[in-house]
Amino acid sequence: MISVFGNTLGNKDLQAVKEVFDSKILGYGEKVKKFEDSYARKINSRFALGTANCTSAIYIALKLLNLTPNDEVVIPSIHFIGAINAILMANAKPVIADVCETSLNLTVEHLAKAVTKKTKAVVLLHYGGNPCDFDQIQDLCKSQNIKIVEDSANSPFSKYKGQYCGTLGEFGCVSFDMNKILVTGEGGMLFFQDKSYLDEAFMYTYHGFDRSSFSGYSKIQFSNEWWNVNPKLLTLKFSMNNISAAIGLEQLKKVDKFIKTRKDIWGIYCEELENIDLKLPELQKDCNSSYYFFWCFLKDRTKLANYLKQKNIYSTFKYYPLHRIKLYSEFQRYDLPNAEKISETCLNLPLNQNLTESEVSYIIETVKSFF
Ligand SMILES: *Cc1c(COP(=O)(O)O)cnc(C)c1O
Repeated sequence: MISVFGNTLGNKDLQAVKEVFDSKILGYGEKVKKFEDSYARKINSRFALGTANCTSAIYIALKLLNLTPNDEVVIPSIHFIGAINAILMANAKPVIADVCETSLNLTVEHLAKAVTKKTKAVVLLHYGGNPCDFDQIQDLCKSQNIKIVEDSANSPFSKYKGQYCGTLGEFGCVSFDMNKILVTGEGGMLFFQDKSYLDEAFMYTYHGFDRSSFSGYSKIQFSNEWWNVNPKLLTLKFSMNNISAAIGLEQLKKVDKFIKTRKDIWGIYCEELENIDLKLPELQKDCNSSYYFFWCFLKDRTKLANYLKQKNIYSTFKYYPLHRIKLYSEFQRYDLPNAEKISETCLNLPLNQNLTESEVSYIIETVKSFF
């Protein structure tokens, strides 16, 4: 079966893991800090904190905004469940918004419809790696004092007008799970540009411990009561570990190549699938995508998906609209016609850096043969 997703790991990644094994320092430590620094430098972020996963990074971002149960957080319906769970776990009220019917992104019009006096934040998704029209969204958010949390799990190295996604909003979050472009097994990262978040953000990742006392065990050891701990806030543990970080450091060296391959495959799909009854994706102008998903629209979406499956090609639809999921349906306030339509007509074809030329040709020929 040709899969939608695919990670690329090799001997270098394995060797990096072995070094961590040998060091015995498997948990949070120097490799994590090094990965944070390298990643932050690559995307020009002032601050980066490794986390256990992207969902916990979103959760921490929202906790840092001190939300209360009366506060509302807008989330587009086409979004991963982890993001709405993070809003709920951070004690706020999600408000589900509609999205653009071609980009699947939140637009300023859809955001404006969802905003009330109670809106404190929005959790954006740059769908499939294609950046949202950020300037317009930011203008509205600034005027209403709404903080932007970017879920950049689809768009790890995408750029909006030259600036990296994940560094555009108040907070940015990425994922390194096994289906992402850069993988570390499990992992994520939280980005922000305002130094005043740093100490508390670290505490949220690590039992409420202070960064300064924690980063040197030595400091604790040489105090008179080194067994005494003094957490500063209530949280759980969401830290990254050295094993993941060591893999991440190797992956960082290769990720530009992965994205280049994805871009090439995207281009071939667009060229070859142009003349059939399939609506192709359009990308935001003056931006760079990381080409995480390839999406297209057709009336017989489910039929095509089943046809491809019979021919050993896996396709899927991300993300099933949140308002259609029972657990979240109460957070829908009005009709969301675009998300409804998308969920019946959108299909994601395989797009990853491991696809061979002949696999790409086979996918194209098979799609064409369906029509
Ligand atoms: C993968 C993904 C997540 C979840 O990431 P985890 O690291 O598994 O928590 C969240 N949002 C989006 C858009 C994703 O693609």
